[in-house]
Amino acid sequence: MITRDSYRQIELYAPDRSPCATDLSDNTNLWGVPPQAAQALRDAGASAVTRYPSLYASQLKEALAERAGVTANMVVTGCGSDDVLDSAIRAFTEPGDRVAVPDPSFAMIPIFARMNGLEPVLVPLSGGTALDADAMLATAARVIYLCTPNNPTGNLLDANDVARVVRDAPGLVIIDEAYIDFAGGDARDLLNSSDRLLICRTMSKAYGLAGLRVGYALGAPELVAEVEKSRGPYKVNSLAERAALAALREDEAWVRAHVAEAMTNRQRLGDELRARALAPLPSAANFLLLPVSDAVGVASRLRARGVAVRPFVDLPSIGDALRISVGPWEMMQAFLDAFDEATCS
Ligand SMILES: *Cc1c(COP(=O)(O)O)cnc(C)c1O
Repeated sequence: MITRDSYRQIELYAPDRSPCATDLSDNTNLWGVPPQAAQALRDAGASAVTRYPSLYASQLKEALAERAGVTANMVVTGCGSDDVLDSAIRAFTEPGDRVAVPDPSFAMIPIFARMNGLEPVLVPLSGGTALDADAMLATAARVIYLCTPNNPTGNLLDANDVARVVRDAPGLVIIDEAYIDFAGGDARDLLNSSDRLLICRTMSKAYGLAGLRVGYALGAPELVAEVEKSRGPYKVNSLAERAALAALREDEAWVRAHVAEAMTNRQRLGDELRARALAPLPSAANFLLLPVSDAVGVASRLRARGVAVRPFVDLPSIGDALRISVGPWEMMQAFLDAFDEATCS
């Protein structure tokens, strides 16, 4: 075989994505596309298709920088934040280096580590949800990845623990804020004190543009320049850049309104589940993690009733659980109805 040894442990990312009437499995914006972003796509001329996009999405960087209160040379974009994460991990490591990842957390990170010839080191979250700063630092990994609010648990990591990891880490620290819009607060202050910190964000969740693949990171200019080298040119396509610009410039009120509704419905869904004597984890994201026994069985019975959620098996300190995206209340009600049927014995 001509295949690469280190790729044997990598499998294709293949969660069940077969169409389902109510899809609560991937935490995207279930209210739809921001209206001005949709308009920008309709208005795009032929050159958005026939010409190459800008090399490093300079206009988008300007708009993201303005929104984040940093300069444009502190922003790097990518084809989804997946691309930014992959590029960042590659930019600051040599093959064989280690990448420390909390467990459970974003499932793609160990995969990106292996894709780049690196060794993922899983560090359990204390009690299933709390960052163990000492254990993360003890790995001495070249890259430490943190996700807050954490996917799939939904909780924010303790800000003091995060700050300590950023202060004492020997290499790059990535803070993935894919869900920060639903939480309030963020880690931007830490950028003032660290030139080894990248804060990764995405327009796939609150901004409703998952299909267009737009992600970005904030960090010191020298750091960002290295990620851009690793990422390469033309990664944000022209249509994606136009829609993202329109969303940032003209859809802020729409995004804020639906973030607020998501937070209201998150509370209400949690109340409904607690009324059924269940114990969803406290969430600062647009999803809830609900411990259940036999998550795969429950998820497949839900799917048979037209509702898709993401099952997790045997999470450390948590056990089996379902991750349920929060969206318009009709969808939450559809989930509750299907769940009641799927779990009545
Ligand atoms: C969804 C998600 C991403 C991926 O976002 P894209 O920009 O769509 O690639 C990154 N990190 C976490 C934690 C996510 O849940």
